[in-house]
Amino acid sequence: KTATAAGEGDDRPLAGKVALVTGGSRGIGAAIARRLAAGGAAVALTYHSRQDLADQVVKEIEQAGGQGWAVRADVADAEQVWASVAGAVERFGRLDILVNNAGTGVLGPFEGISLDDVDRVLRTNVRGPFLAAQAAAAHLTEGGRIISIGSCMAERVAFPGGTLYATSKAALTGLTRTLARELGPRGITANLVHPGPIDTDMNPADGESAEFQAGLTSLGAFGQGTDVAETVAHLAGDGGRYITGASIAVDGGFAV
Ligand code: NAD
Repeated sequence: KTATAAGEGDDRPLAGKVALVTGGSRGIGAAIARRLAAGGAAVALTYHSRQDLADQVVKEIEQAGGQGWAVRADVADAEQVWASVAGAVERFGRLDILVNNAGTGVLGPFEGISLDDVDRVLRTNVRGPFLAAQAAAAHLTEGGRIISIGSCMAERVAFPGGTLYATSKAALTGLTRTLARELGPRGITANLVHPGPIDTDMNPADGESAEFQAGLTSLGAFGQGTDVAETVAHLAGDGGRYITGASIAVDGGFAV
């Protein structure tokens, strides 16, 4: 199978492109996978443990007329990451867009964070995107995109209890800004999208009272994965041609 031919019209601006979305089986990652596929990209999505959810996302993409493929990969495992990238290239013929979405978090008082937590969160949120970017960079060419999902906690807001998560997400700023410099001469961009409170398994809106939600952001509500996916799609397409090294908040005015 190869990716659909390019230039099929404006409603499919990503036609001919191939994307890999880590942690694409649920939440924000699934919304990104669906959105890039709707834009015409062939999408490989990695999952960690829930193949059933990943298969369901692929089914939805295919039912909507797109191309999807699910592959198991622990994002912190170099061999599995390289195999998932190689598999995407083998299946769809090329790689244009990497979305570093897979992530995890532990919240709690700084002095109570265990070494196991530190290792697990840094492996997933830092080592993972670093490895995936390395594996993808071997295939990306002119017009290539590396888009990482950070958090407004990386740069914009700080909370007690968020040290480990904020530390891990702040590392993506260093990775992204430096990749922008290093890969820019090859015509490859690297950007960060910083979500605010988005209603997913990681941060369920129904776990918070309506009053709390209303006061949390300027817009008075949690966002959806689709809100983040729209910005990722913009960066992935021609609209992102001259954007690199940037951090873009999709947080409903959480941080203002
Ligand atoms: P989620 O828990 O629903 O999804 C996380 C995804 O990452 C899942 O698909 C999971 O399988 C995958 N994953 C976790 N560990 C992995 C590993 N070791 N290897 C491979 N995949 C792994 O959460 P979400 O809200 O959809 O989060 C997606 C991204 O957005 C994460 O990077 C998260 O930190 C970030 N984020 C979320 C919010 C929010 O409010 N939901 C806010 C800011 C940032």
